[in-house]
Amino acid sequence: MIQLSELVLASHNAGKLKELQAMLGAAVKVRSIGEFSAVEPEETGLSFIENAILKARHAARVSGLPALADDSGLAVDFLGGAPGIYSARYADGRGDAANNAKLLEVLNDVPDAQRGAQFVCCLALVRHAEDPLPIICEGLWYGHILHAARGEHGFGYDPLFWVAERDCSSAELAPTEKNQLSHRARAMALLKQRLGLA
Ligand code: IMP
Repeated sequence: MIQLSELVLASHNAGKLKELQAMLGAAVKVRSIGEFSAVEPEETGLSFIENAILKARHAARVSGLPALADDSGLAVDFLGGAPGIYSARYADGRGDAANNAKLLEVLNDVPDAQRGAQFVCCLALVRHAEDPLPIICEGLWYGHILHAARGEHGFGYDPLFWVAERDCSSAELAPTEKNQLSHRARAMALLKQRLGLA
């Protein structure tokens, strides 16, 4: 089992850092990649796993510390897993509302039975930049894509993602509730187990 006292998070997102620090507790100090580099690596992988590993290796390289990266997105069954790793820029970088409008448009005539989808979160932890054995933890959250947006919470595709177990969209869930059910929560729980912190 990996023993960690410090790691760098391969993300400039302060919210993610706070969430991760709270989850790992005081035993592991989480540092931001921003302390070491402003350059983001090109995400050239074709899968969440590849991109998460690539980002983790880059963070380990520039910091000299063990590094954790996450890659997440929405995979729609009918679209062969699209928008997938391109979720953030599905509508060519025009933002969440444009991404959601595009998704609704491409699924326009698709019946409910074929609107299954999953949110995916892939975490990759490397002990050093050349680590041959990264720890990979993947969390999946199954739902289906609505015909119109619902709810005000969350971000990204949350207003279009129907959560059957709560009978509402993911943007209608209170943030604390989403944080217990989500793909990210599931991946994080697995990581905690792998690090012996659960
Ligand atoms: P990132 O991991 O923050 O880069 O997220 C990638 C993209 O996937 C986001 O920009 C969203 O479009 C989508 N996404 C990832 N997680 C969620 C979520 O929990 N709710 C809604 N959209 C998400």
